[in-house]
Amino acid sequence: MYIAVSGEMPLPAQKKKQKRHARRPHRTKLRGRRTNKPVICCVIFDLDDTLYDCLRERVPAAHRHAAQAMVEAGIKADADAVYRARMRAFRNDPMLRYIDAEVTRHFGAENPEAISLAAREAYFNCPVGRLKPFPGSLPLLRSLARRGVRNFIVSFGEPKIQRAKVESLGLDREPSIEKIYYADRGNVLTKEAAFRKIQKRTRLKSSEILVVGDRPAREIRAGKDLGMHTVRLLHGEFKAQKPAGPEEEPDCVIRNIADVRKLPFIWGR
Ligand SMILES: [Mg+2]
Repeated sequence: MYIAVSGEMPLPAQKKKQKRHARRPHRTKLRGRRTNKPVICCVIFDLDDTLYDCLRERVPAAHRHAAQAMVEAGIKADADAVYRARMRAFRNDPMLRYIDAEVTRHFGAENPEAISLAAREAYFNCPVGRLKPFPGSLPLLRSLARRGVRNFIVSFGEPKIQRAKVESLGLDREPSIEKIYYADRGNVLTKEAAFRKIQKRTRLKSSEILVVGDRPAREIRAGKDLGMHTVRLLHGEFKAQKPAGPEEEPDCVIRNIADVRKLPFIWGR
């Protein structure tokens, strides 16, 4: 049924055009609506276990690689037995603090420090195969970018390996990501320093920046130290890690990366 908006009977050719106009939502009114939700103009994502499933796609392969390196460095057992011992130790110590010491002790290794060093190097330098992002990662990045939110990734690890992961995931050529920073084990660039660089580059207030990651002691703590909003994705290798104190407590916890969009923020100005 035609709804007359002008009060005059239209000519037949005008009918369709005026009908569409009458049904269009009042956008100005929606935009101007008052809200207390923080406005987020920039999101900083962690990589491992945040944008892809590192626990399933990388961790077993990295432990196998480390097991092989331990055998080559002098443990008297075959690589399968060392791998099984590593995975047992990993279940008890998901933060990997004592895993190498535990495994060298288990096999009575003669030179535990050198073997542990070889294991750590192998673990962080395990060659990268084919990886795929979580199903929700790219839709989230693109939806934020469409709203004018600037997306960054800050990854921690061996920069050469982290770059290979990014390439395998296709994130190096993803237009919705403005820049990727590589924090390294040698602390040439820490996560906090990378966050500062992003803040300087974007000239945004801390209250306009959101950090999303899985590790309380790393990105959550660094984000909180700088006064940014923080979201923890409760998933993966470090899922069991508890915040050491209020300085590592995230503002929100989610279980799926796609849930970021459902959080109580306004996305983009
Ligand atoms: Mg991570």
